[in-house]
Amino acid sequence: MIEIMQADLVPWKRVKRWNCIRCGKCCEVLEVPVTHEEEKRLKKYGDVFIKSKIGVYLRKDRHCIFYTGKCRIYPERPIACRKYPFYIRYEGESSAFFRFGDEEYYVYLDKNCSGIGMGFRIEKVIENLIAELKNVKY
Ligand code: SF4
Ligand code: SF4
Repeated sequence: MIEIMQADLVPWKRVKRWNCIRCGKCCEVLEVPVTHEEEKRLKKYGDVFIKSKIGVYLRKDRHCIFYTGKCRIYPERPIACRKYPFYIRYEGESSAFFRFGDEEYYVYLDKNCSGIGMGFRIEKVIENLIAELKNVKY
């Protein structure tokens, strides 16, 4: 997960619409952890990782190393980037409750994302995200 302050999370029911407007803010301010699979997949780009005791992250130079006005690895970006600004949990408050078939989740958004209030109906976006995440190889 991209680390975010709890105070910055808002339950999805307080958000009507969302779309990524490609402002690049998240590629600048957030630390992006990579999974072991992603590290193997992205190492072809060279020295793009920072390793610490708590994990492996994408290297940054103000923005993420892959940001050139847009993400240059968009189709293969890490799972943390695919999820952002959504945080999907198994516990939470009633205003974050989301039913997906017979599955139950609690979904929050980082209120700092510039795409909040834009674009698509939030329920549809969350359904598509959960469906997409089920198909991602971690
Ligand atoms: S901050 Fe939000 S709108 Fe801007 S690039 Fe990131 S996800 Fe997209
Ligand atoms: S991998 Fe792409 S989407 Fe993720 S932070 Fe870097 S530039 Fe942004």
